[in-house]
Amino acid sequence: MANLLFDLPVPAVPVEGENGLFPVRRIYCVGRNYQAHRAEMGGADDRDPPFFFSKPADAVVPPGGRVAYPSRTSNLHHEVELVAAIGQAGQDVPVERALDLVFGYGVGVDLTRRDLQAGARERREPWEASKGFDASAPVSALRRWSGPAPQGRIRLSVNGQVRQDATVADMIWNVAEVVSEASKLWRLEPGDLIFTGTPEGVGPLVGGDKVACEVEGVASLEFEIV
Ligand code: MN
Repeated sequence: MANLLFDLPVPAVPVEGENGLFPVRRIYCVGRNYQAHRAEMGGADDRDPPFFFSKPADAVVPPGGRVAYPSRTSNLHHEVELVAAIGQAGQDVPVERALDLVFGYGVGVDLTRRDLQAGARERREPWEASKGFDASAPVSALRRWSGPAPQGRIRLSVNGQVRQDATVADMIWNVAEVVSEASKLWRLEPGDLIFTGTPEGVGPLVGGDKVACEVEGVASLEFEIV
């Protein structure tokens, strides 16, 4: 073991019903994976396939109740997403075997500085500042899962008002396709989280907002913007 000059904490999220934590290695995210969200965002050809971007591993916020309103934005948006956690390594994995890599699932919010993203899109600049900022990836506890991926409802409410209410089965790329596609671009390793895209209904958050979200039968998460 190398003699590290200082301690580096490992980002991690809890596992439902277990004491051990799931260490986070990388966070991949899928963009435009629901047709109705693609439409509300505008500007994209409906035939364009979904795509990937990423967030730093330490952008993850484990369940705990509070998320700080980020700097340099006046239009912070929520995007509720099914999160697939990778438990087995794989590269160039065919769709039929892709779910074998999945450790379990959670629900997460791909927090987005929408104003910075709009500027970046206009100027054809990268998305790091709009997507990969500190504390931009609140995630629930993960639920171990094998077999077919969750298909049920995905919901997010703010201060008790429903903002996003859709069905995971409406994803353009299903979970197996997302994992397979990702594995063609990067070697997936245990500890990787994949945010699988948000349905329609994204919108702004302000300080004091209480966010609650769930993927039915899988996981739920609550936090307050402070
Ligand atoms: Mn997203």
